[in-house]
Amino acid sequence: MPGIYRLKGTVKHYDWGGTAYIPSLLKTVNSGNKPFAEYWMGTHPLGISIVETANGQSKKLTEYINDLPYLFKILDVKDMLSIQVHPSKADAVIEFARENKEGIPLDSPQRSYKDDNHKPELMAALGDFWLLHGFKPAKELEYILLNVVELRELLPVYNHSGYAGLYRHVMEMPQSEVDRILRPLLDNIIPLYQEGTLDKTDEDFWAARAALTFSQGEHIDRGIFSVYLFNLVHLKKGEAIFQDAGVPHAYLEGQNVEIMANSDNVLRGGLTTKYIDVKELLKHVKCEPLVPHILKGENYSPQIRVYQTPVKDFELSALDTGPQEPIKITAGTTEILIITEGKAVIGDAGIVLEAGDPAAVILPGTEYSVTGIDKKSTIFRASVPH
Ligand SMILES: [Zn+2]
Repeated sequence: MPGIYRLKGTVKHYDWGGTAYIPSLLKTVNSGNKPFAEYWMGTHPLGISIVETANGQSKKLTEYINDLPYLFKILDVKDMLSIQVHPSKADAVIEFARENKEGIPLDSPQRSYKDDNHKPELMAALGDFWLLHGFKPAKELEYILLNVVELRELLPVYNHSGYAGLYRHVMEMPQSEVDRILRPLLDNIIPLYQEGTLDKTDEDFWAARAALTFSQGEHIDRGIFSVYLFNLVHLKKGEAIFQDAGVPHAYLEGQNVEIMANSDNVLRGGLTTKYIDVKELLKHVKCEPLVPHILKGENYSPQIRVYQTPVKDFELSALDTGPQEPIKITAGTTEILIITEGKAVIGDAGIVLEAGDPAAVILPGTEYSVTGIDKKSTIFRASVPH
């Protein structure tokens, strides 16, 4: 049946990745115990997906469709990722042109803008997932600056100059000051972390882990301040969160499915050994309180939940299906499906989605139906709102 094909994505072996989740999703033996960090589905030049035709041929997805406006991924975060901020679309256009004019090569580590696009991101948790997301609301921020004794000297800075002043203060202070403030704190909490007495709901847990992961020699990563300044969010399976332009965030631990606009524009803010451009970061980070908005998905039908966001680049929905009733869908745009739980069949094409062969692509205009074979199956569906 034309219009529906099996899809093979690309594995990224970044060293922060877990070794079991993605291999089991792909039914790949990971004999070398390599990290399998991300599984990419889409048309990104660094990982163009492969389409399998009915007669067993393999072709690049780009032979069937033009570039997708989104990149669809599975992530397995074992070691925490860097703190990141992404620019708005309007800012990305201006900054990309500026760096081009300044003659900074695209592959230079000093290059902050790789393209002229924004990079909003939406992620749904596949199990317990932990992340940092935006600045804490005022009461919580004041509470933590008062109660973590070693950070108390930051309270007057916050009282005097607010969120922006506080963040600038910790991001611009000399490294010797970072070390002076954080060393006594880490000396207290690292032994507790190593004894296993800290809970994941406690910022100290992640600060200690970050120190053991990122600090180089005597020097302490200043991103550890942000572990206390940002919201520590715990998502449960099926819950999602959207990261718009300017919202600082860092993935800490867990597996998720993620969809983002096609862009590589990342400004880092610590928890990394990579280049940090503090000036650019401070230009684009939204220094304001944020109450995390956890998305459960809006039911369009009893079996389709859509995670709504304000962006036009992508849409993520979850299909919850069992054997009783097929879900009928007409693809308005190119859609990618990946099953993360159970087993289901795309009726019209007879393609079975299951571990080992979890993904399919549906070309625009194709009508299709999905029926669970197992009692409960979950399929994530990437598309574009239209
Ligand atoms: Zn990001």
